[in-house]
Amino acid sequence: MSTQSTPQSADPQFRVDERPDRASGERVAQVLAKPAFGAVFTDHMALVDWSRAGGWVDPRIVAYGPLQLDPSAAVFHYGQEIFEGMKAYRHADGSVWTFRPDQNAARFNRSAARLALPQLPEELFVEAIRSLVTVDQAWVPGADQGEASLYLRPYMIATEPALGVRPSNQAIFGVIASPAGEYFPGGLKPVSIWLSEDYVRAAPGGTGGAKCGGNYAASLAPMAEGLEQGCDQVAFLDAIEQKWVEELGGMNLFFVYRDGSIVTPELTGTILEGVTRGSLIELAKERGHDVIERKYSIDEWRDGAASGDLVEVFACGTAAVITPVGTLKWRGGEVAVGDGESVGEVAADLRRTLLDIQYGRADDTRGWVH
Ligand code: PMP
Repeated sequence: MSTQSTPQSADPQFRVDERPDRASGERVAQVLAKPAFGAVFTDHMALVDWSRAGGWVDPRIVAYGPLQLDPSAAVFHYGQEIFEGMKAYRHADGSVWTFRPDQNAARFNRSAARLALPQLPEELFVEAIRSLVTVDQAWVPGADQGEASLYLRPYMIATEPALGVRPSNQAIFGVIASPAGEYFPGGLKPVSIWLSEDYVRAAPGGTGGAKCGGNYAASLAPMAEGLEQGCDQVAFLDAIEQKWVEELGGMNLFFVYRDGSIVTPELTGTILEGVTRGSLIELAKERGHDVIERKYSIDEWRDGAASGDLVEVFACGTAAVITPVGTLKWRGGEVAVGDGESVGEVAADLRRTLLDIQYGRADDTRGWVH
């Protein structure tokens, strides 16, 4: 059975049904003054329907609200679901931009292939975002609000109302949006990491390289364990040797050495290929760092931190751009990188460089903003 349907449906134009009861300017201003990330959504959402027989049809922007799904829909039983995470940024001149949406579209289709969901034409992905952000542009925080943005959540779910483990013959692609405030309102602060030794996130041949809900469901128990240990985030090791550092539950990792070289775990299919990760590798190289993608062992982290050779560790992802890592904790020990409390120079420099591109404060020589 072919699970990779040919992208059909030619016209990526979205019909816009503007809701008559959209939030007042006052209400939007109120939300934007104190955005509760992921809790308040904009007035509209994008939707496109897919069926194996008919392809992608009816691209539309409609009032944000509940979806009506049959309780037998495949997504509820077999977790056939994927998603993306990206942001729209307001520049000082008031214009609104997204960052490398083609990368998210490509990753979405790689995830779709792994989850036996249909391929989505890139124009539909990008046009859904453009149309939604255009109707709801009042919800994009102002350039005066620091690093605030409009978080965008594209997703695809299997909706065929039928039990039975097989690829769904129906799906929905949608996008919702939520205003996001500054990630570190009190300033950048290093986080502590719990090393997960009882649970793995991904195994070779599994779904680690895909952005699917199941990966995150599986990370909740280790996350709870980490929180119990007083840590902010969890780091996962490879499933086979339990030796190689993979990534955090929702961010990729970078290790900075005294000589300025930077190591980041190579892509093996078990870690998610972050758009931030790829962008930082390019920017760091441009700024003269030797950036090496290779396997990185947990002992290198422990020993490097103890000897002082490893001067910075940071995590990266769309949400926080760069989060400095202060301490690594495991059952029976912990080690701090540097003093465990200050923000490293390399992390701060790369963070500023990327944010300047995203917020239009620096020339985008690579065609990254759209
Ligand atoms: N790893 C995982 C598991 C993630 O969920 C994310 C967030 N999408 C990342 C890494 C970072 O990816 P990106 O830079 O594209 O946000």
